[in-house]
Amino acid sequence: MVINGERIPAASGGTFDSLNPFTGRPWATAPDGDATDVDKAVAAARAALSGPWGKLTGFQRAALLRRLGDILARDADVLAEFETRDSGKLLREMRGQMAYMPEWFYFFAGMADKIEGSAIPSDRPNFFAYTRHEPIGVVAAIVPWNSPLLLLAWKLAPALAAGCTFVVKPSDYTPISALELAKRVEEAGFPPGVFNVVTGYGPTVGKALAAHPDVDKVAFTGSTATGIDVAHSAADQLTRVSLELGGKSAQVVFADADLDAAANGVIAGVFAATGQTCMAGSRLLVERSVHQTLVDRITARAKTIKLGDPTAESTEMGPLANAAQLEKVLHYLNEAKQSGATIATGGGREESLGGYFVQPTVVTNVTPDMSVVCEEIFGPVLSVLPFDTEEQAVALANDSKYGLAGAIWTKDVHRAHRVAHRLRAGTIWINAYRVVAPNVPFGGFKASGLGRENGIDTVRQYTETKAVWVELTGATRDPFVIG
Ligand code: NAD
Repeated sequence: MVINGERIPAASGGTFDSLNPFTGRPWATAPDGDATDVDKAVAAARAALSGPWGKLTGFQRAALLRRLGDILARDADVLAEFETRDSGKLLREMRGQMAYMPEWFYFFAGMADKIEGSAIPSDRPNFFAYTRHEPIGVVAAIVPWNSPLLLLAWKLAPALAAGCTFVVKPSDYTPISALELAKRVEEAGFPPGVFNVVTGYGPTVGKALAAHPDVDKVAFTGSTATGIDVAHSAADQLTRVSLELGGKSAQVVFADADLDAAANGVIAGVFAATGQTCMAGSRLLVERSVHQTLVDRITARAKTIKLGDPTAESTEMGPLANAAQLEKVLHYLNEAKQSGATIATGGGREESLGGYFVQPTVVTNVTPDMSVVCEEIFGPVLSVLPFDTEEQAVALANDSKYGLAGAIWTKDVHRAHRVAHRLRAGTIWINAYRVVAPNVPFGGFKASGLGRENGIDTVRQYTETKAVWVELTGATRDPFVIG
């Protein structure tokens, strides 16, 4: 792990293996940290706040962030290979993701020198008040395995722009890229202790970080259940929390839509990344008159999706990321079958490939209460429900404990915006799916999260606002009267 600029083993001396999901074999080993390592990392991050880092101006932080962006752009392909070996995601997807990731550092570099307070006109002639937005302090990031480095960058770039220091616990399934990032943070010239990595498991390292009394903010991405646990751990210290959690996003297709484009968007939404994305469009709501046509098109394409080695250029869908994921997806497929749903295509493991491969699956003839419709599966499983009216489409789309994202497919511009305004989710795409950018807020309504990442307001989530009152006359006041 990396603490205060040093690459060190876990205090316990323990290690764990990271498995390549395609081969099922270990390909790397990481230190198995615990609360002792967390204490050390948090102390290093605290100390770095009052070291050279804490004295830099926003302009100087911006220069470091830009340099880090350049280094990450230079090494995008290498980082993509680490990500693919750790997570099993397609190499071509990870190459694209890693080539885009530097933009987060460039965008937030642009924010670092614009963290401005305001001068507030006083209601009293003898006072002047102004605000400062100071770094929140030590940020602990806890991140998942599905886009390990990008989701870390969503937190790191604004935190560094704000002047915070950082401790990250990557997922125990994908510990390597955060350690690789640490080398590049050092190369960019960030002082030791600004960025620390503690590898290990959730119940040990994650829990210790979330409950740590000297952490000022926890930035978490992961499942809703773990997010709630993290919020509980943080609450005892009133540690600030932002949570990016799960989803069960709806793709709403009206009869007037370009059905080829919609079918393509539905495929992208649920089968890309083997369905292992928080924003997966896993519920298809389709106007009854085009229901069968659209299901046929999606099913036909799903049958031709090329499964295989995630490093091969021709592969369209890789394996699930780990054995627990495989078990979870198969469990939901069995429940769907038992509750009488129809498997239009797929429905089980891809036996020819073994390992963690599951077939792209479309499930029809479902009801809104079935687990395949309500629960986040985090796999390549689409459930389809027909609707008759716009009102019914909105009600079905909102009938979820989640509210991360959704899409509307229609050529009617009035309806597109009308429905977008009524959907209770943090991101709505119109005639598109799965697009994100550093400058557009992302995050969830309801059980999909708390707070937003990306966009200019995000830096504020890594600052505390301080109001400063200045008395202008030097006169004394009645000590027993407020104001
Ligand atoms: P997870 O909740 O199992 O784990 C997330 C992280 O939390 C891991 O690093 C894990 O080790 C750690 N952790 C586990 N138990 C902990 C505890 N008790 N205290 C503190 N930390 C703990 O999630 P996952 O399986 O790694 O990732 C998949 C989930 O992440 C899905 O639900 C997905 O929707 C969600 N996700 C959300 C977004 C988003 O931006 N909204 C993005 C990607 C993934």
